[in-house]
Amino acid sequence: MNQSKSQRLFAEAQKYIPGGVNSPVRSFRAVGGTPPFLARGKGSRVWDVDGNEYIDFLSSWGPLVLGHAHSKVVEALKKAAEVGTSFGAPVELEVELARLICQAIPSIEKVRLVNSGTEACMSALRLARAFTGRSKIIKFSGCYHGHADGLLVKAGSGAMTHGIPTSAGVPDSYARETLVADYNDLTSVEQLFESHPGDIAAVIVEPVAGNMGVVPPAEGFLAGLSRITAESGALLILDEVITGFRVAPGGAQELFDLTPDITCLGKIIGGGLPVGAYGGRAEIMEMVAPLGPMYQAGTLSGNPLAVTAGLATLRELQQPGTYERLEALGQRLAHGLTQAFKQAQVPSTINRVGSMLTGFFTGGPVDSLAGVERADAAQYGRYFHAMLERGVYFAPSQFEAAFVSLAHTDEDIDRTVEKAAEALSGLG
Ligand SMILES: *Cc1c(COP(=O)(O)O)cnc(C)c1O
Repeated sequence: MNQSKSQRLFAEAQKYIPGGVNSPVRSFRAVGGTPPFLARGKGSRVWDVDGNEYIDFLSSWGPLVLGHAHSKVVEALKKAAEVGTSFGAPVELEVELARLICQAIPSIEKVRLVNSGTEACMSALRLARAFTGRSKIIKFSGCYHGHADGLLVKAGSGAMTHGIPTSAGVPDSYARETLVADYNDLTSVEQLFESHPGDIAAVIVEPVAGNMGVVPPAEGFLAGLSRITAESGALLILDEVITGFRVAPGGAQELFDLTPDITCLGKIIGGGLPVGAYGGRAEIMEMVAPLGPMYQAGTLSGNPLAVTAGLATLRELQQPGTYERLEALGQRLAHGLTQAFKQAQVPSTINRVGSMLTGFFTGGPVDSLAGVERADAAQYGRYFHAMLERGVYFAPSQFEAAFVSLAHTDEDIDRTVEKAAEALSGLG
């Protein structure tokens, strides 16, 4: 595989950008090698600056549920750009996006748009603290909620990939306000509530963990969190930045029949542009400025371009059959990969919820962070590169999800499985 131009650009990038990247996992440190610099994307495919073509399962880490450069999104963006890219004043489109979100997710009566998932989660926690008058929060080890200070304690995603479970620069005094429980372990949550009575403002959770690789919620886990928080006057914050509009039209809360107090959104609702959102019951959201004392603002929040891409994406998702199609494609990929691993006699566990999945290099089961950590990340690295060379782009870390989009075809999936069988048989 020719990578000469990417190599040149990566060397240049490292002169001016820390690690040559604007988000750590992109650096390929977890798998080694040079990240291809991408030049173009269309549908299920991306092309790098050296002309190599890949079937893409990164999907920009989740937002591109329609695939790259979807014509409806591109057309809408062109029109929007021509009439002004930012006003810092109300526009009609942001009302439309907010209405669409509230209609799709009934637990969200009011919603505030921000610019990223990080901002959404950071703001949701501030809101929970404002509403309850309490200071501590519970998160789960291996779950990632963006890079706000208090959330980088035992975080997944890049923080996990790079062995930085707690970031430097976060004061101990602040980190102490974050309590950490084990995913899929209700007892660990109950113990924290017992040892900190009346202090816990909220539990924040990925309803389907995606940032330690995909780990579905155990039977009764999310309902248990709902019960425990309600009983103790704390709020349940569902971080649906990945799952929102991906696993069902109403997100994971529809799939698992939950009514969280606050929901965080991002990724898909921006259709590939920077958007996040947090919303919930009206009485909670009315704490937010200008109605209430919890301050949160943003120069580019509700930005017309970002909102346009989000609206075009969500409207396309509302076409009949889209979620059935995502489920069928996800199932086809999971089934094919399971066969490929079996044939190659490589121990594996494929975890999947709808169109998000991870193939762990371990016999499993993978239903907790401890299970995830048994995966052979070095072997994943070799597999990842073997796939990249064969024109398939998975996430450059074992501890991430693959995302199927509506642009993937059955042929894309079958070709991917074929390549996986080849790559796995060569691992030795
Ligand atoms: C990606 C992600 C975030 C952070 O979103 P950014 O837009 O990257 O700031 C938060 N929570 C979850 C579950 C995510 O996957």
